[in-house]
Amino acid sequence: MLVQVALPVPLYRVFDYSLPADMSTLANDKPACLPPIGSRVEVSFGRQTLIGIVVAHLSEVNSSVPINKLKPINKCLDAKPILDASLLKLAYWLARYYHYPLGDVLAVILPTLVRQGKPLDLLITHWRILPHITDDNFRANAKKQKQQFDMLKLHGTRGASEDVLLLEGMERAFLTTLEDKGLIERYIEPKQAPHPVKLAKMPLNLNNEQQLAVDTIIAAHKSERYTGFLLNGITGSGKTEVYLQAMQAVLEAGKQVLILVPEIGLTPQTRARFASRFAAHIVLLHSGMTNTHRLQGWQDCRTGHAQIIIGTRSTVLYPFADLGLIIVDEAHDSSYKQQDTLRYHAADVALYRGLQANIPVVLGTATPTLEHLKLVHEGKLIECQLLTRPGNARPATMQLIDARLQSTHQQTQDNGARYDTGLTDALIGAIRQTLEAGDQVLIFLNRRGYAPVLLCEACGWQADCPRCDAHLTVHYNSQLQSHSYLKCHHCDWQAYIPKICPDCGSQNLDAKGMGTTRLSENLHAIFSNPQTSKTLYPIIQIDRDTTRRKDSWENIYQRINEGKPAILVGTQMVAKGHHFPNVTLVCLPNADRGFLSADFRSPEHTAQLMIQVAGRAGRGDKAGRVLIQTLQPDNPLLLKLVKDGYLSFAQELLQERKMMGLPPYSYAALIRCEGKTLAATTQALKEAVAHLPNAHNLAILGPIDAPMSKKNSRYHSQLLLLAKDRWQLHRVLNQWWQPVLALPSAKYLKLTLDIDPIGW
Ligand code: ADP
Ligand code: ZN
Ligand code: ZN
Repeated sequence: MLVQVALPVPLYRVFDYSLPADMSTLANDKPACLPPIGSRVEVSFGRQTLIGIVVAHLSEVNSSVPINKLKPINKCLDAKPILDASLLKLAYWLARYYHYPLGDVLAVILPTLVRQGKPLDLLITHWRILPHITDDNFRANAKKQKQQFDMLKLHGTRGASEDVLLLEGMERAFLTTLEDKGLIERYIEPKQAPHPVKLAKMPLNLNNEQQLAVDTIIAAHKSERYTGFLLNGITGSGKTEVYLQAMQAVLEAGKQVLILVPEIGLTPQTRARFASRFAAHIVLLHSGMTNTHRLQGWQDCRTGHAQIIIGTRSTVLYPFADLGLIIVDEAHDSSYKQQDTLRYHAADVALYRGLQANIPVVLGTATPTLEHLKLVHEGKLIECQLLTRPGNARPATMQLIDARLQSTHQQTQDNGARYDTGLTDALIGAIRQTLEAGDQVLIFLNRRGYAPVLLCEACGWQADCPRCDAHLTVHYNSQLQSHSYLKCHHCDWQAYIPKICPDCGSQNLDAKGMGTTRLSENLHAIFSNPQTSKTLYPIIQIDRDTTRRKDSWENIYQRINEGKPAILVGTQMVAKGHHFPNVTLVCLPNADRGFLSADFRSPEHTAQLMIQVAGRAGRGDKAGRVLIQTLQPDNPLLLKLVKDGYLSFAQELLQERKMMGLPPYSYAALIRCEGKTLAATTQALKEAVAHLPNAHNLAILGPIDAPMSKKNSRYHSQLLLLAKDRWQLHRVLNQWWQPVLALPSAKYLKLTLDIDPIGW
């Protein structure tokens, strides 16, 4: 017998290995210890040693390699499979659908420590002091040993797990030394099976819409059949309560529930919301975890110890013992799409896993993607609508402010110079009115830093990134000049702010445009300065710069939740799932720029963001208001969105896409080529086009320069393929993509394929 192994190498094939002599002592027709399918083995590959996954057993006659050329595997790492049949099936599906090598798919699926071949019980190895050992067992000069011993002693008679001890600063070498000296011992603590989930708090009384949604989802769960749901509920309509009550039935049946959340939607409240309803073993999985914690989480999901799993994108690739329901919260969010290596979309993978496991999958959002709305039209997703907010809360009203008619507010600097705040008097009036009524204001500006560009007024020079097609953002700190600098938000390049223009020597350098820091400063001058304001209102800036430190989010949240009048200034970080009950006014000083972008998806994404931000208004008992300051108040899309709401707007966009044959009415593959020059990347893509099979029936756009063709000193070209149906696209890719990767012109270039891209 031979084994077929998937290895983490960028090759579209698996590899045959024989078994070492001592293993293939055959008992009847079965070897004594054939590494099971789904287990890890260590093998030699060229001059490397790699860890791979056994994906098949086969007899020697079926191998394409002659037996004397086959190498034996070096080691079996697992006695039992670590990947069950359904996860392997998922890996095959991902490899096929995204045209990505199986071994590399598995490398994406497996946590780092598993990939490195670490034992899975790493975490359950515990250490404890032997009962008869005391301080007297140490000689006076064994100081370091005694120190480590004392650290373990703090954990009492049961000791602690190895990973905890290592985290505390103990050294593994000392653990084994102390063990050899007969002072401490290791033991494996079997994990207790979790208790059945219990309700910790009574559910709320549902309104009719919520009840209908919960009933439909539970019915699907009971019927043990796959059903995909679009829970289409306006912001503040109580989608979470629907999740909670649907989950209850599934958890009570002893099954696991997976909740996917967007990358930056995972706030301290997320876990609390679920933990306050259910007494259950809840596991949180996100990108900021250490490798050991990730392995622990992976194991908990796989063994069934985890009952509620809340995680970001990659959690959809975890193994589950007995999954009963998948919820994708804020399903429109772009962080569900992985933008490198295996470019999967977590919502699509979630639907596939639901189908595989015969369980319901709920995609919840206030702003469904056009793809999901089309699936509803086709009957592939069942729509549950929540059109009202529970209790007294009313959806916020939206209103446009014409920034062309209104003068923007001028402010005088300390040195007497006047400057423009970029805020119309109407907006400022509304903000003051809201604050004086004792409420909070949220101002959304999707641009961090002080200003997006530094410009020479004399000659027009702009500070650009030397490595990218992009301006450097001005990070200006008026209190601390030494903390001022220019930075590229694409490659992190940093530079000093020049005193004079490097081109013409003029001192007339000006920061143009507005980022969150500048906006906060301007607001400070108006609302938080004793010379201009009777009452001083705090300005709270929420963006990646102010929330970088570990507990800064929690501090900010606490300040907001005290509920006192304040102005919150935030980037898209504030758009997601947050509940700010005292915010009654939301302002968008220039969120509508996206309606003019070249990418046909831009209006959809801009509208989603605007509606999500607007949804932060009026979530308490008081009514909310949204003011959109715009330079294009006649823009038909913007008017449609404000007058008729997101769903009508989205239906209109769908019609447009249908007429133009664009996704979701066609199926796209985006090929990107990265290299040292644009000439080389364009040439490679031209040759790729020449290799397309005859009568391929695809629409081809390109090769063209990518939107930001130079990034981090590398150049990018791209090619877009559009097909009328999915199978047509995959048929062509099956024939074409692997030969393209092998083209001589593609050597030294990086070619990537993105199926169902969400932007270009
Ligand atoms: P969203 O749909 O935006 O996710 P949430 O789930 O955050 O909305 O719900 C908004 C608010 O409404 C929350 O404070 C929640 O507790 C409350 N809520 C939800 N359902 C009900 C209900 N049936 N009765 C009373 N309050 C409810
Ligand atoms: Zn100049
Ligand atoms: Zn750059």
